[in-house]
Amino acid sequence: GRAARAVSFTGAVKSYGAVRAVAGMDLEIGRGETVALLGRNGAGKSTAISLLLGLAEPDAGTVELFGGPSERAVRAGLVGAMLQEARAVTRVTVRELVAFVAGRYPDPLPLAEVLELAGIGELAGRRVDRLSGGQTQRVRFAVALAGNPSLLVLDEPTAALDVEARRAFWESMRAYARGGRTVLFSTHYLEEADVHADRIVVLDRGRIVADGTGERLRHSAGGALVAFDLA
Ligand code: ATP
Repeated sequence: GRAARAVSFTGAVKSYGAVRAVAGMDLEIGRGETVALLGRNGAGKSTAISLLLGLAEPDAGTVELFGGPSERAVRAGLVGAMLQEARAVTRVTVRELVAFVAGRYPDPLPLAEVLELAGIGELAGRRVDRLSGGQTQRVRFAVALAGNPSLLVLDEPTAALDVEARRAFWESMRAYARGGRTVLFSTHYLEEADVHADRIVVLDRGRIVADGTGERLRHSAGGALVAFDLA
């Protein structure tokens, strides 16, 4: 039969009080795709990612990963995630943290490869609670990669990075995406989405208002990307 999609949202809705953070979302992501979720502050990107990871339950509709419930895919070690979250407060070193996470997955990447991909070789012996914002972000990327997940989910992965760290990050993400892995990242920046994703999904007020290649979206006159650019 047909291989299940990596990600499948069907009529997904999630409200917080009166706010419909995700307001009826249908989205299919095939295996091997690199997809950008593009939207302004409050568009619903983080909420969509929470639904996808099973961290929040939809009020209506369904969200599946690899043809089953999110929890199953997460438990099977198919998913790695880098979320927007507070800094680590534990006293472990970067190496200890990455090794701990890797040890919970059935088929992790070698530690040296993770440190190299995340560009944190020189931080391996440092305590995770004593890193800068940008360094912390690179460690969170390492944590997301450590289990060698089939689906890598990155919520605003470049937010605190300087220009050089961004360049290195995107190069690593590309390297990781090769070989049939699926990547979903959220961003505020059209250019990042355009350059680094195969496909852009534009969210506005919890709805998908455009979905396609950057090329296609640029050429749809009066399209959502144009509106996004001007906003
Ligand atoms: P940003 O780019 O700022 O991270 P976003 O696109 O990720 O934004 P969400 O964080 O998903 O957007 O928020 C979508 C809407 O849902 C916003 O109006 C937000 O205020 C609201 N919201 C999200 N999480 C909660 C929550 N836990 N409680 C109340 N409202 C929430």
